[in-house]
Amino acid sequence: MQSKLKKFIYLDHAAATPVDPRVKKAMEPFWSDNFGNPSSLYQKGIEAKKALESARKNIAEIINARPKEIVFTAGGSESVNLAIFGATRMNADNSPAGGTDKHGFGHLITSAIEHPCVLNSFEALKKEGFKTTFIPVDHEGFVNFTALKKAVRPETTLISIMYANNEIGAIQPVAEIGKWIKRINTERIQNGLTRILFHTDACQAAGFLNLNVESLGVDLMSVNGSKIYGPKQTGFLYVKSGVAIKPIIYGGGQEGGLRGGTENVAGAVGLARALELVQKNRLKENERLINLADYFLTTAKKNISGIKLNGPAISKLDNQLFRLPNNINISLPGVEGEALMIYLDSAGICVSTGSACSSPKNDPSHVLLTLGLTPKQAKETIRLTLGRMTTKADIDYTVKTLAGLVKQLRKVRR
Ligand SMILES: *Cc1c(COP(=O)(O)O)cnc(C)c1O
Repeated sequence: MQSKLKKFIYLDHAAATPVDPRVKKAMEPFWSDNFGNPSSLYQKGIEAKKALESARKNIAEIINARPKEIVFTAGGSESVNLAIFGATRMNADNSPAGGTDKHGFGHLITSAIEHPCVLNSFEALKKEGFKTTFIPVDHEGFVNFTALKKAVRPETTLISIMYANNEIGAIQPVAEIGKWIKRINTERIQNGLTRILFHTDACQAAGFLNLNVESLGVDLMSVNGSKIYGPKQTGFLYVKSGVAIKPIIYGGGQEGGLRGGTENVAGAVGLARALELVQKNRLKENERLINLADYFLTTAKKNISGIKLNGPAISKLDNQLFRLPNNINISLPGVEGEALMIYLDSAGICVSTGSACSSPKNDPSHVLLTLGLTPKQAKETIRLTLGRMTTKADIDYTVKTLAGLVKQLRKVRR
């Protein structure tokens, strides 16, 4: 329990963000007042349906899509599962051999540093008989484009590359990959091969980057609410018109038949409002966060010996972004990240080791290992992800506390 008097600094916005009060306010009417089922045909149902469709329209406008291309889900993991399983199974069904197309089962490509919801979906499909390839990244965390190009086979049906990484903040060249896929698809179709679908997991990107699906050239895009000051267990999958996928949740035909179940009206309204708010302010906020992250690193380097940033360099303001503005992932040789995290918590500072999703197991992060860190080095890291409430004073306090703890912990080990 954090005492009210104690300083409390939350630096784990890549794991969860507080719900924006304006989001909460927008959702409020849909709990006890406008509670109708959007499928009901009387007034209360129609009201709910109207709110749901208005949320869909707002999201579509922000990402330059059409409302019917937005499928509401219960979060990022579900969107990703729907994209990957949905596309793969539809392709298998449509193949000339009915599930086993003439080139064998479908082949799927992703990067080695994806979120577990992508990696484990791939592993599950592999067990079902589909072929998978995991593309390596360079020492900064950027997908190796040459390896990606080489991995494509005649039977490839899906490429899934995350927009921005949750652990090291590396932003992948999604638009460039999208353009290349479009080009090879033209040739493939002429040669009677399946069109490759392109999915991007944009859960970490949605708060900071351009989500225009046309310029990104994606067929499928996953976004969630909990990383953008919206409610947890809300999200959507963008499914480009003409792209056929199968549902993973069967039910009453909601969401264009792609997601059965009574819609989370309040959640959809909240998600739309959250996306609108983060996207409207993102350029200004990005600049503020980059300055803070840069300030953190400069100050930390002056006060802590051996500190090293993992992933791409902190972005320069006027240039294109290569790293999420709020992400700092640092190695502190001789200091266990797990121990540091616990001591920082006692000092009222929340950070994470590697990623929240894999930290309970205390396995070294697969992302850091892929970057070339040894298991020992990968355990000597912490991730700080700044947010809307983070101030310069928070950074000063964090660096001071961190410097003291690192000194103590290094002494204990000697
Ligand atoms: C958080 C996250 C997810 C999963 O989203 P949930 O809403 O927790 O299911 C997927 N991908 C990335 C990159 C994430 O950061």
